[in-house]
Amino acid sequence: MGRPKTLILAMTVDKALKRHTCQHNNKHVISKGDLRLKVAKGRSHEHYCTACADKFIDLALQGLQKLQGDLRLEAGEPRD
Ligand SMILES: [Zn+2]
Repeated sequence: MGRPKTLILAMTVDKALKRHTCQHNNKHVISKGDLRLKVAKGRSHEHYCTACADKFIDLALQGLQKLQGDLRLEAGEPRD
């Protein structure tokens, strides 16, 4: 059996080296030195501001929890 498969995209938090806009909403400005979420997209990366990143992570967590709940429900195990 191999390692458990990761369902999470390759993502890291880094600091912007220069000022640029958020790739989810170009009205969001990421200043030099600001933290940002860096997401691998093919051979390059996309960068999102912390407000967008926080929402994406919330949504992802909710989605994963729902999936886990559905799996447990199907298996007849009580939810915790
Ligand atoms: Zn943003």
